[in-house]
Amino acid sequence: MLELSKYTKELSIQFERSDNILIVAHINPDGDAIGSQLALYHYLRSLNKTVNLLSPNNLQDFLKWMEGAENIQVFIRNRKKSIEMIRNADLIVMVDFNQMNRLGEAEEEVNKSSARKIVIDHHLDPVGNYDLIISDPARCATAELVYGLITELNGRPFGGRAFSECIYVGIVTDTGNFEHGNYTPDTFRIVATLLESGLQKEKILNLIYNNFSAARMRLLGYALNQRMVVMHEKRTAYIWLTREDLDNYDHSKGDTEGFVNMPLSISGVVFSALFIEKEGFVKISFRSKGTFPVNEFASKYFGGGGHLNASGAEKKDSLENTINYFLEALAENDQKLAESLR
Ligand code: 5GP
Ligand code: MN
Repeated sequence: MLELSKYTKELSIQFERSDNILIVAHINPDGDAIGSQLALYHYLRSLNKTVNLLSPNNLQDFLKWMEGAENIQVFIRNRKKSIEMIRNADLIVMVDFNQMNRLGEAEEEVNKSSARKIVIDHHLDPVGNYDLIISDPARCATAELVYGLITELNGRPFGGRAFSECIYVGIVTDTGNFEHGNYTPDTFRIVATLLESGLQKEKILNLIYNNFSAARMRLLGYALNQRMVVMHEKRTAYIWLTREDLDNYDHSKGDTEGFVNMPLSISGVVFSALFIEKEGFVKISFRSKGTFPVNEFASKYFGGGGHLNASGAEKKDSLENTINYFLEALAENDQKLAESLR
């Protein structure tokens, strides 16, 4: 795990020097991206800093309740204002990603900006030029790293309901409610501190996991029943959904969140993929159990990335071609699949 004190001095200098700080989440922001972004926001606001918030695209409903989320500017919804925000910033902090292409349509403007740039993240192998990289893949969530950094900066745990909820959301969502990911005893020490400070974990769990529409539940039923292919010999299962499928079930953003994890509960299956047809491309999610490295798989065959057991990518092709390409890629991985979680 990273020695945080090595970074906090530089980080506090960067914060002190800055009059206008912009904190940016990655495209399709998840609980960890938004949790980390807002936790940092609450801390910096307590120091009376001017802080703006940007997301490349829309937040899913299950994150919109978080305090401060209403202040997140969405690039594709208001380009003019977003570009103005980027141009006015003298410090840009990027959380939970380490490749500029995760900025979606905001990438070009952020690249053009002369603001100092900081990355706070837990993915492997940062790509790009930044003034400061605080990257710790040993952390289960960027929010855990943010918590550590702010505790160090603050001299003691930073409090407040909103802050605690943000950290908790990041940790809970990136570990699938403590089911996967590289959480450590340190993770639970942080959670213990949050609970001692009065965090209402049940309220948050209900807001995140028990907050879906009936249509989403029916779509899941359909996906598992009609669109899941299990290849026991490959220890792999995949699910595919067409745009028509999504329309038929009155799909709204975020409804397919979590579907990709389901096949991993089948005995013997160590690799799961989800293909969702979008306009002009396919959104892909990968998950694995054990040692099968889905980040390498996503990056090698699809130009994507992520973590050992959770990754994703996009492919500009038809659903059919994408799945055929996936099956070809799979054939090159028999050995690794056979070895995973034996
Ligand atoms: P999800 O399947 O939930 O969309 O993504 C799982 C993880 O994979 C994310 O936390 C992120 O780290 C990574 N990921 C998802 N999509 C992409 C992508 O298009 N490119 C890259 N580099 N990583 C992705
Ligand atoms: Mn994360």
